[in-house]
Amino acid sequence: VTKPSTDLDIAKKADMKPITAIAAKANIPEEALEPYGRFKAKLDPSKIPGASTGKVVLVTAISPTPAGEGKSTVTVGLADALRQLNQSVMVALREPSLGPVMGVKGGATGGGYAQVLPMEDINLHFTGDLHAITTANNALAAIIDNHIHQGNALSIDPRRILWKRVMDLNDRALRKVVVGLGGPVQGVPREDGFDITVASEIMAIFCLATSLADLKARLANIVIGYTYDREPVFVRQLEAEGALTLLLKEAFKPNLVQTIEGTPAIIHGGPFANIAHGCNSIIATQTARKLADIVVTEAGFGADLGAEKFMHIKARQGQLKPEAVVIVATIRALKMHGGVPKDKLASENVNALKDGIQNLAKHVDTIRTFGIEPIVALNRFITDTEEELTALLDWAKNEDIRIARTNVWEEGGKGGIELAKQVLEVLEKPNYFHPLYELGQSVEEKVTAIVKHVYGADGVHFTDSAQKQIAQIKKLGWAVLPICMAKTQYSLSDQPTLLGRPEGFTITVREVIPKLGAGFLVCLTGDIMTMPGLPKQPAALRMDVDEEGNAVGLF
Ligand code: ADP
Repeated sequence: VTKPSTDLDIAKKADMKPITAIAAKANIPEEALEPYGRFKAKLDPSKIPGASTGKVVLVTAISPTPAGEGKSTVTVGLADALRQLNQSVMVALREPSLGPVMGVKGGATGGGYAQVLPMEDINLHFTGDLHAITTANNALAAIIDNHIHQGNALSIDPRRILWKRVMDLNDRALRKVVVGLGGPVQGVPREDGFDITVASEIMAIFCLATSLADLKARLANIVIGYTYDREPVFVRQLEAEGALTLLLKEAFKPNLVQTIEGTPAIIHGGPFANIAHGCNSIIATQTARKLADIVVTEAGFGADLGAEKFMHIKARQGQLKPEAVVIVATIRALKMHGGVPKDKLASENVNALKDGIQNLAKHVDTIRTFGIEPIVALNRFITDTEEELTALLDWAKNEDIRIARTNVWEEGGKGGIELAKQVLEVLEKPNYFHPLYELGQSVEEKVTAIVKHVYGADGVHFTDSAQKQIAQIKKLGWAVLPICMAKTQYSLSDQPTLLGRPEGFTITVREVIPKLGAGFLVCLTGDIMTMPGLPKQPAALRMDVDEEGNAVGLF
């Protein structure tokens, strides 16, 4: 037999166990399991006894390149490897968004022999969580516009509404729209816009809430905009939090699936890491920590984005800490950081690799700054040459950095044994994790700590309008919140083309937006967009359904 070539082919050939068998393996009580078909289930965390004591292993990466790094692949493969070493382990991952699936990326369920299943479902509509989040978001938008139309008792200034509509697709044409056109019966005209669902505050709240009561309290606390007197307007004033919680209550239950090797995996919530906080839900991680001794989880994009936000936002709000951090790197991506164009990545280039390693070096330094000794997972591609592998391994040895060759894409868990052993070693050692800023510091100080220690910038410049917003935030008593940076994923700077380890740059913050429900302040830098566009050749154009109803071209 010839080896199946695509992730989808491999996934289709895998022997999936009924979800009840996976649940039994994870010691999930029957009453906590709500099957969605044969291979997916929702879990009711309130019916799962025990405390959340499992150790969290966080998987992050170098700054991503179009070459692809393989974070989800390594996350899944590492969990399978730990299970092969007889550890009690679970995976906790984010739900894919249809924006990237139909746009550039294709699936977000790992790759090769390190995937979560059923990949087709997970990548498409899964159990409908994204639909519920989109609907809750847009229900609020409709309630706001209706409130204004019906007399505007709260004096909401239609020019100062922060709340946008969302959809889970990349659609640049909807970034800025005008609603309410057509005369008095159609509502009050105003400028509006769409974000992608995974950038919405509801998604962030969904992922940070620790219980249904907390979910409702956070929804009530959303600031939707300002009155004509510039006073904030909260969802609780609209009395909409009950309906929004109702729309989310089933989605809020974490989803159980399995890896190709049958390791239980929870997939729940999926904010982007560049424009949102980039981690799966706290409720999923905490449920997994009840069920397993080790939880392998992933934060989006490079360690400057997802991991930083994991440390400063998720860890704080969820009262958890990463006990080990894995940084995924590939020879291909490091060569791109060293200046090699995408079409030349297949040829050996040790010099470019050595230049590009500086990007990895920065992320290693960052994780060390948080008090954790990282492990580099060298995710091997067939095109890597021995010369290149040796150059990277030698560098790590000289710098006293833990590194493990990983081959989980080709071999599944077996290809991650070396990595798993190193993770177990780190888990045995004392943990000195600490955040890089305290909440009591000023907004400017907190942002400065991130840009200096995580991005390697000289400092930060706040535009005039950002400064005005910060002044308003201070006045309203919101300056104590943590920071959620919105920055390009491609560079440590706010300029997507500055690869490697840029130096001598400053970060420009052009807007500071309070997200009171989520409990953070979003700082927009560079040209970062909260509604992506489709590329010239959208991944969607390769997709189809065969005569038996199977997906084709979904990676
Ligand atoms: P990330 O989570 O960093 O975005 P993924 O794990 O989703 O990356 O992987 C991106 C793509 O790269 C997937 O299609 C996956 O199959 C592929 N991939 C990952 N690792 C390897 C590898 N070692 N060899 C070949 N393809 C790989």
